[in-house]
Amino acid sequence: MKLYNTLTKQVEEFIPNELGKVKMYTCGPTVYHYAHIGNLRTYIFEDILEKGLEFLGYEVKRAMNITDVGHLTSDGDSGEDKMAVGAAREGKSIYEIAEFYTNAFFKDMESLNIRKPAIVEKATDNINIYIKMIEKMLADGYAYISNGNVYFDITKANDYYKLSGKNADDLMVGVRDTVEEDKFKRNPGDFVLWFTLSKFENHVMKWDSPWGVGYPGWHIECSGIAAKTLGEYLDIHCGGVDNIFPHHTNEIAQSEAYFGHKWCNYWCHGAHLNDNSGKMSKSKGEFLTLELLKSKGYDPLDYRYFCLNSHYRNSLVFSYESLDIAKNAFSKLKSRVLAIKEVGEFDLSKKDEYITKFANAIENDLNTSLMLTVLYDLLKDNFVNGSTKIKIIEEFDKVLSLNLLESNLKKIDEDLKSEILEKINERSIAKKNKDFARADIIRNELLARGIKLIDTRDGTIYELI
Ligand code: AMP
Ligand code: ZN
Repeated sequence: MKLYNTLTKQVEEFIPNELGKVKMYTCGPTVYHYAHIGNLRTYIFEDILEKGLEFLGYEVKRAMNITDVGHLTSDGDSGEDKMAVGAAREGKSIYEIAEFYTNAFFKDMESLNIRKPAIVEKATDNINIYIKMIEKMLADGYAYISNGNVYFDITKANDYYKLSGKNADDLMVGVRDTVEEDKFKRNPGDFVLWFTLSKFENHVMKWDSPWGVGYPGWHIECSGIAAKTLGEYLDIHCGGVDNIFPHHTNEIAQSEAYFGHKWCNYWCHGAHLNDNSGKMSKSKGEFLTLELLKSKGYDPLDYRYFCLNSHYRNSLVFSYESLDIAKNAFSKLKSRVLAIKEVGEFDLSKKDEYITKFANAIENDLNTSLMLTVLYDLLKDNFVNGSTKIKIIEEFDKVLSLNLLESNLKKIDEDLKSEILEKINERSIAKKNKDFARADIIRNELLARGIKLIDTRDGTIYELI
């Protein structure tokens, strides 16, 4: 398996710490609002990565956090807590907001056939772990207390900028331009591990700690939850590219300070989905949620197919035109798959040939569009019989998760299905006899009932519209 590693800035052979086993951590949502479809693109990428590794025979243990405290409106240490912003916006309590949007998130995941990670932990359920880690970092000199808050001293980290490739000067510009200066820090880049009331007096979520009543910083949540659920060594850590700095940079600093050794070997980041105005937003412009797409008549899997057509490391601009193209292509693809008749004896050597091609696409830095190409090649391969094709597609769909074999056919009962097949047969006899008027009547009658006939090289297929 070859994967691009943000840490080394190159495509590398993936070698897990333990043979055949993968420990994978993926940053979860901040549950103050719906996920936008950009966020969902990242979760689709992570889902394909997990399932792709399984396809290759790895056993994957994956964990994800739910951020329900500590993520401020800037990704650094300034601004308000996003959860408080959500609660104020809707006149609800923070706990109600967290519960509502956590459920909404998992509903979106389910509609997109994204598997829920085996381990999901809420940030607020793990306060003791953060406290334990911070105490050790203080004892070992990586952290310090200033004006009540606990900060991480980035000069103590082993090569703090190794993931982002940034340097202290870049950061100084960022600090001057965008972030309120915190005079209590030793270095401008230091980040907060634990906030106390000295900074946010009205914070609703707060816990007792050795440093006073307060709450954890955002970054320590992921380090803490990963340590608790996956142990000292991680194989893969994922997120969107915006997470590289400061979030993942700070996770590395904390976890390596705590464990005293290198923590995670492969850092994989999904490029962004932007809208035509640039960065996708939850407050400005059209808030692109999965529900919005559904209300406009798109199936969530149209969007999954749209995402699979591009490589996870290429940024994408969203438009309804390109989603329409994907929707049409996906609908044709499904019709072609459903038209396959289960005929012929299962051919193991053909199956092996196509499974190998598909595995190669996965191994090629998770090349999803190549995976789809292998599927299209299979569909048009006249040397593979229908029974074998269906078996192979079943395997591919364990990774693609497009419900390729269980489409609309399920939505209609068997009687209607055989009636349509009879009509298709009658129409092809009419066409053979050059009775095109009769053939057209049959097609139009079915169309009026919402059943569209499509003539393909392999015969006539139908689609429910
Ligand atoms: P958040 O809920 O803001 O913490 O983000 C959830 C996930 O979505 C993180 O992994 C982010 O890196 C990722 N993300 C944020 N914006 C985008 C975007 N426009 N396109 C793709 N992924 C994104
Ligand atoms: Zn995280």
